[in-house]
Amino acid sequence: MSVPTDLKAWIEQILCRLVQEAPENRLPDFGGQPIFGAPLVGVADGDDPLFEEFRHAVSPRHLLPRQVLWLYVRADAEPVQVRVIAWALPFTQAIRRSNRGEGWPSRLYSLARCNGGALNHGVRRRLTRILREHGYAAVAPVLTEHYDAFRSPEHIFSSSWSERHVAFAAGLGQFGLNGSLITPLGTTVRLGSVVTDLPITATPRTYEDYRAPCLRLNGEPCGLCVERCPVGAISRSGLDKSKCYQMRRAVRDRFMDTYSRSLHMLPAPVVKSGERVDEYSLGCALCQCGVPCEGGYPAVLLKEKAENA
Ligand code: SF4
Ligand code: SF4
Repeated sequence: MSVPTDLKAWIEQILCRLVQEAPENRLPDFGGQPIFGAPLVGVADGDDPLFEEFRHAVSPRHLLPRQVLWLYVRADAEPVQVRVIAWALPFTQAIRRSNRGEGWPSRLYSLARCNGGALNHGVRRRLTRILREHGYAAVAPVLTEHYDAFRSPEHIFSSSWSERHVAFAAGLGQFGLNGSLITPLGTTVRLGSVVTDLPITATPRTYEDYRAPCLRLNGEPCGLCVERCPVGAISRSGLDKSKCYQMRRAVRDRFMDTYSRSLHMLPAPVVKSGERVDEYSLGCALCQCGVPCEGGYPAVLLKEKAENA
C-alpha cells in the first residue's frame, strides 16, 4: 500500500478519521453529540535522551521507545529510526462547559471521560494496525503486557509509560500547576501514543522547561485551579496526588452505580499493579474546566480576558 510523502499530514488525517468516524465518539444519552474534536498530533524522536530522563522523573520502569518496538515487533533488523506519534484528543466545548460547576463533575463530562477513554484505546489499536498494514513496525505501549500502573514511594502513583510525559517529548505541551499537560488545545484532553519506525519528522519542541509558566511562578498570576479543586489537592506549589486520588474514589463511590445502570458506558482495560481488568472509569477534572487553560494556552486566554474586561 502506498504512503503519501507528507507523513505528518497522513497521520493527522488517519487520526482525525479514526476519532470522528468512530461510533464510540457519539453519546446516545446526550442526543448523539460527539466527545472529541479534531486531534492535535506531535512526534518525538524515540532516541531522544528525554526518554532516559523519564526513568528518573516517572519511574525506573519507564519503557524506552526503541526497547518497546524491539520487544514487540520482532523485526529481522533493528529499526533505523524510532518515532513516537503522540496525540491529544480535545473534549468538545459543550462537554468542557458542562464541567464548570462546583462540587462534583457533571454527568455529561463523566460519561464523555469514560467512553472517551475506551475510544482512545481503540484509536491506539487501529493506528497500530494501519501502520503495520503499510509495512511499518508499530506498537502502542499502553496496550502491551509491559505496561503497568502502580504506586511508588517517590511519585505516589506511577507507570511504565506516561502519556503525559510522552506528549511533552512530542512537543504537545508543558505541565501546569494542576499537574495536567497544557496543550495548544488546553488541558481537557485525552492523550495517546504509538511507537513506530515510520520515518516521520520529529516535531520541534518550542519550549525547554517541562513546567508551564504557572508552575514556575507558583500559579501567579492565575492559580484558578487551586480555587476550583473541591478537596484542596492543588496548592501554589503543585498537585497533591493522594488527595486527588481520594476525590476520584469519592466520585466513583457516589456515581458509578447510578451511571452504570442509567447510561451507555463503555469499559476499557485498566491496569493496576500488574492486574488488567476491563472497567468503567470516572474522574473529576474540575480543575481543568472553567479555568484559563481549559481549551488553550492560558497566556492567550488571560490576554483575551483582560482585553474583553
Ligand atoms: S488554571 Fe491557571 S494555574 Fe492552574 S494549571 Fe491552568 S493556567 Fe496553570
Ligand atoms: S482532578 Fe479534581 S480532585 Fe484532582 S486536582 Fe483536579 S479538581 Fe482536584
